[in-house]
Amino acid sequence: MAKIGFIGLGNMGGPMAANLVKAGHQVTVFDLSAEAVAHLVSLGAVAADKVSDVCSGADFVVSMLPASKHVRMIYTGEDGLINYLEKSTLVIDCSTIDAESAQFVGSALTDAGIAFVDAPVSGGVAGAAAGTLTFIVGGNDDDFNKAQTVLNDMGKNIFHAGAVGAGQVAKICNNMLLSILMAGTSEALQMGVDHGLDPKVLSEIMLNSSGRNWTLELYNPCPDVLENVPSSNGYKPGFMVDLMAKDLGLAMQAAQQTNSATPMGALAKNLYNLMQNQGSGSEDFSAIFKLYSQKQ
Ligand code: NAD
Repeated sequence: MAKIGFIGLGNMGGPMAANLVKAGHQVTVFDLSAEAVAHLVSLGAVAADKVSDVCSGADFVVSMLPASKHVRMIYTGEDGLINYLEKSTLVIDCSTIDAESAQFVGSALTDAGIAFVDAPVSGGVAGAAAGTLTFIVGGNDDDFNKAQTVLNDMGKNIFHAGAVGAGQVAKICNNMLLSILMAGTSEALQMGVDHGLDPKVLSEIMLNSSGRNWTLELYNPCPDVLENVPSSNGYKPGFMVDLMAKDLGLAMQAAQQTNSATPMGALAKNLYNLMQNQGSGSEDFSAIFKLYSQKQ
């Protein structure tokens, strides 16, 4: 069993850290939220008083933070963990951030003799709780192999996308597609409802037809089609609109670097920015359904 430091116990990091405790690892946790830390302690984790306390004797440090600026700050900012990590530690950052930030932090740590992989995830809060996440890893072969020993306790599918930063590129491609599918699924469901169809029946039809996709099957945006999804729970996240808007910003940045055409992604980004401007930033991203369903 390994000694693991875990930073960021939010919607995703909380259940991920819980699975590491459940697997028998010795897990030391840190979050700005005392409540989140207390919950993990109740499950068997040890609380770190300050973030640098997660480093002491750790085989692995795992982070699950909101965005690039948090990851840069924690590792390479003023009094960052780069000053505290031991050379035998492998840092696994699971946050979704831009590839350049992953490479910046990765290079700084590697130059200091500390191994790093980016390992963003897919599978949502349900996947985090069930330990069935998909991890998309960027890093060298040795670090990828070492990371797997811990990632296997939080996920089901572990992919090696390439060098440091490659995990982030693959993750952003996936989330751009996810946003497009969520918007398209919402649009199609509402058109059916407008014509008098039952959304449960329409969902079943499309699930057995060529419109089948993950959002329709496992994360249906129309309330009361599925149980235990954000749309049937007042659009409580889950995966916040603010985080999807952040990911679409990263996708547009990536597209610009390679002059890739991403018209659907650009449209999805605009729709999610509109939701933010309407005050829905902290709702689940499936609340995009309301853009179509709320009529005067
Ligand atoms: P969240 O906002 O629920 O959790 C983030 C946590 O980080 C919070 O508990 C916050 O207190 C903590 N935090 C922020 N700054 C910190 C600091 N300086 N030190 C310590 N803790 C700090 O976000 P989330 O939904 O768990 O998402 C985390 C990451 O995972 C994001 O990059 C997101 O894009 C990605 N992601 C989320 C989902 C999802 O379904 N929610 C799915 C895949 C990937």
